[in-house]
Amino acid sequence: MLEAIETILARAQADIAAATDVEQLQTLRRTLLGKKGSLTELLKQLGKLDPDARREAGQATNRAKAALTDAFDVKLEQLLNEASALDFKPDLTLPGIAPLNGGLHPIQQMCYDLDDAFMSLGFEVFSEDEITSEYYAFDCLNFPPEHPARESMDTYWIEGTEERRGTDRLCLRPHLTGASVRYLKAHGAPARVVYPGRVYRNEQTDARHERAFYQYEALIVEKDFPFASGQLLVRTILEKVFGREVEIRMRAGFFPFVEPGFEIDMRCLVCGGSGCKVCKQVGWIEVMPGGTPHPNVLSAAGLDPSVWSGFYINVGLDRLVMMRYGVDDVRLFHSADIRFLSQFR
Ligand SMILES: [Zn+2]
Repeated sequence: MLEAIETILARAQADIAAATDVEQLQTLRRTLLGKKGSLTELLKQLGKLDPDARREAGQATNRAKAALTDAFDVKLEQLLNEASALDFKPDLTLPGIAPLNGGLHPIQQMCYDLDDAFMSLGFEVFSEDEITSEYYAFDCLNFPPEHPARESMDTYWIEGTEERRGTDRLCLRPHLTGASVRYLKAHGAPARVVYPGRVYRNEQTDARHERAFYQYEALIVEKDFPFASGQLLVRTILEKVFGREVEIRMRAGFFPFVEPGFEIDMRCLVCGGSGCKVCKQVGWIEVMPGGTPHPNVLSAAGLDPSVWSGFYINVGLDRLVMMRYGVDDVRLFHSADIRFLSQFR
């Protein structure tokens, strides 16, 4: 029995070494190790032997099996390597496969362009935590205590702090303006600062309302800052972003943290003012609210309102992006539909 095993092993090793292709090797493997292979057949005869001889023969068969399995694997790898080296003849005339590049989202691109425009006018980019407090979100910004925006339907209050007040009552920031007070307290005046970022509102989401979205706000604070300079600043920024002349107009608007406050409109760049879908046939598009910081806000920031003045601009990112590309439905930009967004790469 042991002799028979040795014979099979020696012949098999010679056959494996002599194999010249993968198919031949696989046939050989089946003949030796398969269900009806010669080693398997030998194992079936073990039962006829006496216990000692059976144990010895069993061990020898298993050793032979292991040795052959190794020999097969080594040979198989060798044959595959040789085969792939022979078969691989690259066609150097074929065009390459272009890598799939990502791109900036049009709204992010607009943020960067605004950063560039503001920085060229000496503004600094500032960011703060997204968790803020009732004090920075409302109190210091001249929001009256009964203002509806304070109610939980608009603001995400942090659990466990609802019963507290002021800086101890925490929330996800519902707008960016609190960052301006934080910045002024730390850096003083004069100041030129932008503070883009994400804000949160506890609203029903639908096609036009998101619970988290980006805003872009800017503040300039100088001594006796004339209102006309605010208007000039807005126009300069828009012209830098759009690379062409723009026309703006201002209408009175009310926001607690500004006095006076304005809605700033821009002549529609898509139709030039004659009316189109983007401007809803009006010829003008509302791009941003803004205005002079309220004296209470300046005081809260530690500045004397009789000395310091300035201008807030809350840039409407969506509107600017719609204007840039002449797209009349802002939902498309928020759709995350790669077919739509890949046009802007
Ligand atoms: Zn238009």
